[in-house]
This record gives sequence, structure tokens and C-alpha cells, in this order.
Amino acid sequence: MKLLLKFSTPLFGESVHGMICTHSPIPEIWFTHTSKYTTSNKNNQQLETPFTASGFLTSDFADRMVEVGEERALGMMLNQLNHILPKSDLYLPSLPPSSFFQGGIMVNWEANPFVRGGYSHPSLQAVVGYGEELRRGEEGGKVWLAGEGTWKAGSTIHGALDSGRETAKIISQQLQKSRL
Ligand SMILES: Cc1cc2nc3c(=O)[nH]c(=O)nc-3n(C[C@H](O)[C@H](O)[C@H](O)COP(=O)(O)OP(=O)(O)OC[C@H]3O[C@@H](n4cnc5c(N)ncnc54)[C@H](O)[C@@H]3O)c2cc1C
Repeated sequence: MKLLLKFSTPLFGESVHGMICTHSPIPEIWFTHTSKYTTSNKNNQQLETPFTASGFLTSDFADRMVEVGEERALGMMLNQLNHILPKSDLYLPSLPPSSFFQGGIMVNWEANPFVRGGYSHPSLQAVVGYGEELRRGEEGGKVWLAGEGTWKAGSTIHGALDSGRETAKIISQQLQKSRL
């Protein structure tokens, strides 16, 4: 599940990409810091990307938000941000984040039939480095794998992309060797 909150100002400086919040309703929150990117809507109008805080929740944390509903869930995230940043941050000299709040949505992946899972992550029993080994393939072999599940810092589009680049390098090296 994601809770997406829109603000009229960035909440932190650019060095803060996100935060892990223990003992809190929303365990992980990421931030965007710029409105310089634009997207277009279906009428080709340019829209500014707002400053956002994205709360990421899974398992019991997500179930709890489904139970309380969107309005309350957004309020809980706002309260959490107010608690973390009462009045003190560089960007918010005297007001809490809720003063800059413009709106938000709750995106419940579980309710979407086309979303069939979440991020890959190692289980307690997982063999460390198995993904890397899969990606490297066998010396002289013909099958190579790529994808976020094979990358050391997986779980993301960046992991998938980096793994693809590395696998392409390995294939290229093997091809060069076989041509020599
Ligand atoms: C709900 C959700 C939200 C996410 N949000 C973010 C986010 O905000 N930021 C971020 O960086 N990452 C996010 N991720 C993670 C990101 O989407 C994945 O890490 C990334 O897409 C993995 O890319 P991939 O190429 O490794 O695998 P995939 O994108 O899963 O591609 C695998 C492909 O293989 C196909 N396939 C499977 N089995 C077979 C088969 N037997 N034969 C042929 N084809 C097959 C599948 O149909 C699929 O197209 C999210 C993931 C989910 C599920």
C-alpha cells in the first residue's frame, strides 16, 4: 500500500531521500524535493509534479489502514509527519507539515486485481547471494538471468535496471571470449 500526500513545499532538504520510522503507523516514507519535472495530462497540458511524501506499508500495517479508511489513514500519516517535524526544519521555520498539506490518496495494491505481489525480499532462510549467482550464470553456459530478484540491492526498478546492465556486460564478455 502507498499513502501519497501532496504539499505546497518540500518538507526536507534534498539530502533526505526517505526515512524508516520504527514504532509508527507508517514504517517508511519517501520524499520528492522538486517541482521542476512536469507531466502532461490527457489534454496535453503540462502539470507540475507536486512535492510529495509517499508512505509505504505492507502486511498488518496496510491492513490497519484499510480498516480505518482513506481519510483517517491520510490523517495518521500527517500526524506522524507533524510529530517528526514539529516546527524545526529548515524549510518549515514555524509551521508543521500539515499547514502545507494539499491533499492525498491511499493506493491499496491488494484491491487491484492486476497487482499480483509486492517487492521481492529475502526470507530468514534465504541463502545469501543466491540471486547474484543466478545472474552470473555458468561459465560457458547459455542462460543468463537479470531482474531485481538477482540484484544485491533489489526490490526496485533501479535494481532491475542495474542487474540488466551487468548481465549484458557478462554476456558481451562471454561472446568476446568465444570469438577469440
Ligand atoms: C505494487 C508494486 C509497487 C512497486 N513500486 C515501486 C516503486 O515505487 N519504485 C521502485 O523502484 N520499484 C517499485 N516496485 C518494484 C519494481 O516494480 C520491480 O522491482 C521491478 O519491476 C522488477 O523488474 P524486473 O524486470 O526484475 O521484473 P518484472 O518487472 O516483474 O518483469 C518480469 C517479467 O517476466 C514475465 N514472466 C514471468 N514469468 C514468465 C514466464 N514463465 N515466461 C515469460 N515471461 C514471464 C512477467 O510477466 C514480467 O513481465 C513495485 C512493485 C510492485 C509489485
